[in-house]
Amino acid sequence: MYDLIVLGGGPAGYRAAERAGAEGLKTLLIEKRALGGVCLNEGCIPSKTLLNSAKIYDYTTGYGKKYGISCENPKLDHAFVVERKNKVVKTLVGGIGMTMKKLGVEVLYAGGVIRERTQNGFAVEAEGKTYEAAKLLIATGSEAVVPPIPGLREGLAAGNVLTNREILDLAALPESLCVIGGGVIGLEMASYFCSAGCRVEIVEMLDKIAGPTDREISGLLQKHYEKKGVVFHLGCKVVEVKPGEVVYEKDGARESVRAEKVLCSIGRRAVTAGVGLENIGVVTERGAIVTDEQMKTNVPGVFAAGDVNGKVMLAHTAYREAEVAVNVMLGKKDAMTYGEIPSVIYTNPEVAFVGETLESAQKKGVDAEEKKIPMQYSGRYLAENEGGTGVCKAVVEKGSRKLLGVHMMGNPASEIIVAAALMLNRELRLGDLEKLIFPHPTVGEVMKEFIFD
Ligand code: FAD
Repeated sequence: MYDLIVLGGGPAGYRAAERAGAEGLKTLLIEKRALGGVCLNEGCIPSKTLLNSAKIYDYTTGYGKKYGISCENPKLDHAFVVERKNKVVKTLVGGIGMTMKKLGVEVLYAGGVIRERTQNGFAVEAEGKTYEAAKLLIATGSEAVVPPIPGLREGLAAGNVLTNREILDLAALPESLCVIGGGVIGLEMASYFCSAGCRVEIVEMLDKIAGPTDREISGLLQKHYEKKGVVFHLGCKVVEVKPGEVVYEKDGARESVRAEKVLCSIGRRAVTAGVGLENIGVVTERGAIVTDEQMKTNVPGVFAAGDVNGKVMLAHTAYREAEVAVNVMLGKKDAMTYGEIPSVIYTNPEVAFVGETLESAQKKGVDAEEKKIPMQYSGRYLAENEGGTGVCKAVVEKGSRKLLGVHMMGNPASEIIVAAALMLNRELRLGDLEKLIFPHPTVGEVMKEFIFD
């Protein structure tokens, strides 16, 4: 009998198991593929490892010249990059295994299925054996959506259509890549493959790339990549995938993109099938498990955290939700808040944002305005980004001057955005920024300029 069984060993599952183990709960973590889940094995970390090689390569092939550095015959060795990615993944996954051991968490590598409620909790079956626990945390994550577009599934089976799982392990660089879906994953992969020398085209159904990103910033990012040679087809709906060809419809007319490989990155869906939710009556909505702000499901004693609840499909959200779930199980006061979760697109330049855009604030009826500062106001940015077109925007409530959102494009936005998230969390007003001391010279100190805008 366990205190807790965790189903799924991704960021939500392993963070919860870590916390539960550290608190002395007898914990069993069941994982059917590899510890670390999508994030470590086929998501966040592999993609960033590839993107780092692309960034270095960009400097050697062109950017470096802007700084007085030139390299003769630089080459990107894709097989080496993938091999290095595998090493990084192996190190991190191994580290999680060791942490579980240290904290006394038992790990079982198998697919788990919830079978029934028992007198003392719940029964979970894995590899023909039954395990019982007082509480359950469901953290089975998400998978790539592969819609029923004619030819897409056949392409996947034949190996010319890829999801995030296959593309990050591609042994050789394709000559050309068509990315279906210009969201975060599509853009990051387009960024790597474009730098690596592939011809890249993106087909996106919406009239802009980068999903909910501020419209001006997504436009700037698009321009940047157009200059690098990426072709964007916006407002285009893919209707068929043939070997070497993606057919789309725009304004009633059919056109197509020719490409050796196709990446399907149109979104992700919660993994709830085959988990046995129906056996204990866990409620789902549009395929995701319904949870409250304490990560409780409708079944007392059963919690769900991470992508499986479909709220904000990001690893850092999964970590925090897992912490909340375990704290609540332990009787500690805790609850999830979703308002100040930063998002990052790890293109080069990076894009990062937190909170409302002007558009979303106004839609909610807030009397808001926008402040805009070119990143060039920062000496550090200028020193490190020759010709950079970065921008930092704040969305502010008129009158109170309360910060509602911060949006930026420019390196290292991923590292700066956490300060903005904290500002929002503390409900700072523009005037309060004066009291904050940023180290100089940093790119982040550009945010102090909002006071004068
Ligand atoms: P997952 O990581 O999906 O883990 C769920 C685990 O459960 C899996 O290991 C699975 O094998 C296991 N499982 C499923 N069913 C069962 C079962 N029945 N029994 C046992 N085990 C089961 N997020 C960021 O914050 N930053 C990024 O830069 C970022 N980059 C990404 C790049 C890509 C290409 C992709 C695809 C995603 C990226 N994400 C990123 C999203 C991030 O990976 C997810 O939000 C995160 O992995 C969710 O964690 P999770 O624990 O909820 O689920």
